[in-house]
Amino acid sequence: MKESIREHRLNRVVVAACTPKTHEGIFMDTLQSCGLNKYLLEMANIRNQDSWVHSEDPGQATDKARELIRMAVSRAGTLNPLQEKVITVNQRALVLGGGVAGMNAALGLADQGYEVVLVEKEKQLGGMANRLTFTIEGDDVQTYLKGLMERVTTHPLIQVLTQALVVGFSGFQGNFTTEVLVGPGPYQRKINHGVTIVATGASEYRPREYDYDQSEKVMTQVELARHLKEQGAQNLNRVAMIQCIGSRNEENPNCSRICCQSAIKNALKIKKLNPEAEVFIFYRDIRTYGLLETYYKEAREQGVVFFRFDPESPPQVAQAEDGLVLTFRDLILDRDLQLKVDLLALSAGMVANENEELASIVKLAQTAEGYFMEAHVKLRPVDMATEGIFVCGSAHSPKLIKETIAQAQAAASRATTFLSRKQLTLSAVIAQVKGDLCAACLICVRSCPYGVPRINAQGFSEIDEALCHGCGICAAECPAKAIELNWYEDDQLLCKIDTLLEGAL
Ligand code: SF4
Ligand code: SF4
Ligand code: SF4
Repeated sequence: MKESIREHRLNRVVVAACTPKTHEGIFMDTLQSCGLNKYLLEMANIRNQDSWVHSEDPGQATDKARELIRMAVSRAGTLNPLQEKVITVNQRALVLGGGVAGMNAALGLADQGYEVVLVEKEKQLGGMANRLTFTIEGDDVQTYLKGLMERVTTHPLIQVLTQALVVGFSGFQGNFTTEVLVGPGPYQRKINHGVTIVATGASEYRPREYDYDQSEKVMTQVELARHLKEQGAQNLNRVAMIQCIGSRNEENPNCSRICCQSAIKNALKIKKLNPEAEVFIFYRDIRTYGLLETYYKEAREQGVVFFRFDPESPPQVAQAEDGLVLTFRDLILDRDLQLKVDLLALSAGMVANENEELASIVKLAQTAEGYFMEAHVKLRPVDMATEGIFVCGSAHSPKLIKETIAQAQAAASRATTFLSRKQLTLSAVIAQVKGDLCAACLICVRSCPYGVPRINAQGFSEIDEALCHGCGICAAECPAKAIELNWYEDDQLLCKIDTLLEGAL
């Protein structure tokens, strides 16, 4: 392509190939390397819009490909060179949340020489990991956590603010400003930073099921792990565990992902501490994904008994004089059975923290369950929709510690791609307002998913080019046609329709 551009002195390029979503960038770079403005490119997506959807009809698909290419050629003729804006990057990072994810992300950046401000809302670092004891592999969580905190608090490039709450957030990639209320006191602080990593964690679901609050014999898996660490398992002859507590129900339809391995981890620990003890796990499906399956196999080999139950008729539990009695339907025998146990462990799932306030201040997208949502599950798994903001750990979804560490390192790596540059080039595909046409109706202000347009002192809508994502929603919504999106201007789109319908009307 480079040779053709140079040889024929091309002033526009049309590529008929796959989706621009993944390949536009590489073709733009190709144009740029030949001295051609990168916005003088048009792509006809003859894969997703044609060969994939019409694979059964190659003849008509070829006709459609010709039409798509003719349309692309006509748009190419209307394209104009666009100039991109260059901004200076503040090479400091802000990490929200001082748990395992936040601390690993902070260290990942600080060890590469970038200054980090770590903001934690509690009095001490550690988050949910403060309550954990050991991993399924047998590693001691508290020893790991102590070492991690030591490294973070003594790192010369990490500044830790505890009892700190985010109360204001503004700016754009490379130049954010966050206002934080730091306690006790409290006093307000303004932090300027180039990237933000969101690692605010999640919590264990507090069960309302099975008299959890009323009986000492009913506890969560996290509490059982602590019990085993502090008191061993000699006093336990029979233990029952019930899965999917607070997950996979109407209120929270999702699988919490980690509680099957928590149950198996504790079952194996009980068997190790007291091989005579009997452990019964009541499950709907066992979800020990990946290599965790070997622990499931080991638990079965060690005699842990697994009973499947129907979610419509879960086991019933009644208090007995010296324990608890479970009544349940054995689906293999198709009979009701009773089981007397010393202790009942509930595999409580994870729930998102109260993230609404932070989400509205920083304008972060959330899932229906309240977790923070990545920009694209495959293509941008640790980026958030706003450029320069990344997410990791259980703030994103329930995760094991090792998965949290891996994702925190991924977020730190992505953040480094911003911080390592002194300057950033912003896309020229942004919305522009023709002030004289604007009726200040506020529709664009309300419809922009990133909250960019605002009505200025002159009484018309203004769009900050550094904040605009170029999604085009405001341009489509504006009833006065006062907004145009660069590179997708009306005539650049309408000419494609004219070409398509040429001769038909
Ligand atoms: S991980 Fe297991 S116990 Fe937890 S919600 Fe999923 S299936 Fe249920
Ligand atoms: S939608 Fe259009 S007319 Fe309404 S405020 Fe925005 S730019 Fe102005
Ligand atoms: S193009 Fe999208 S991001 Fe930019 S101002 Fe309009 S709605 Fe907001």
